[in-house]
Amino acid sequence: MPRLTETDMDEICHKQSVLIVDDEPGNAKILVELLRPSYTVRVAVDGAKALQVARSDIPPDLILLDVVMPGMDGYEVCQELKADPRTQDIPIIFITAKDSEQDQIKGFNIGAVDYITKPFSPVVVEARVKTHVELKIKSELLKKLSLRDGLTGIANRRRFDEYLTYVWDFSKRESLPLSLILIDIDHFKLFNDNYGHLAGDACLVQVAQTLDNSIKRKTDLAARYGGEEFGCILPHTNSDGALALANNMSDNLRLLSIPHVHSGTCSWLTISQGVATVVPTRDTRPDTLIKVADEALYRAKSEGRNRVVCLALDICKT
Ligand code: GH3
Ligand code: MG
Ligand code: MG
Repeated sequence: MPRLTETDMDEICHKQSVLIVDDEPGNAKILVELLRPSYTVRVAVDGAKALQVARSDIPPDLILLDVVMPGMDGYEVCQELKADPRTQDIPIIFITAKDSEQDQIKGFNIGAVDYITKPFSPVVVEARVKTHVELKIKSELLKKLSLRDGLTGIANRRRFDEYLTYVWDFSKRESLPLSLILIDIDHFKLFNDNYGHLAGDACLVQVAQTLDNSIKRKTDLAARYGGEEFGCILPHTNSDGALALANNMSDNLRLLSIPHVHSGTCSWLTISQGVATVVPTRDTRPDTLIKVADEALYRAKSEGRNRVVCLALDICKT
């Protein structure tokens, strides 16, 4: 299981935030006083304002939503939030005077996690808010960990595949270049054989961190592709940009000067890299980009290792 980072701990420990949506100032005030000791509390007096807060840069961790409001009612607000990928994971608890079974069924059917009827018991509100905020934090954390490599802490293969599909579609829509670098440590078997498997593991961590620190754009992703192989996905990057980054990664690794006296290529640990660039179209697929980068990596190995080879995508159009 991947380790928790300082950022993870900050997120777990920071005061969680709750959004109260109620057009009645008296109702909202009671809820604010009840929850303020434990949460950062914000209030929205109508549905439009609620959507605005939920879509802001600091979305709430949970929403307490009234049903009967002028303009958009609570059900409509809930449906909009659940239809929007940015807000669909925020748990919603309805808190309303509408207490028929039909109302409750409707609330659950459109995605609420809970339904509290007015007049409410403060103990019940506190307990249910606590339960659902905790569940949300835990499921977010699990999702994050499931996308991270357990040994090196950088993105794992699942995240790599997911992100490549996402940026592929985006680049196709916008006709933007997309580059991929596949990286493989040279003679790593010999490294393990001579320095031991634990030293090999520690080396993989250093290499992963160096690659991850080398990427500068927020949209670039460095991932452990498998074993001693890594992949960098570089959206909106042409082959010159990708080549420059690949050379930069080799230089940064050289600065670490990890001894590998049995390598046969160099007395320090080195990497070979294959670079491919494409402007995705309907006729190409992410697999093609991987295949070409892999072919470039194979050539880097066969031409002597410790080097970067770039290939154009049309070499695979057979
Ligand atoms: P080349 O230069 O051709 O890439 O040679 P290589 O020895 O790096 O390639 P090969 O595929 O023969 O060996 C890869 C080695 O990587 C063998 C495997 O034990 C090691 N490896 C893969 N994953 C891990 C890991 O998690 N920890 C350690 N210590 N070693 C690993
Ligand atoms: Mg390999
Ligand atoms: Mg290797």
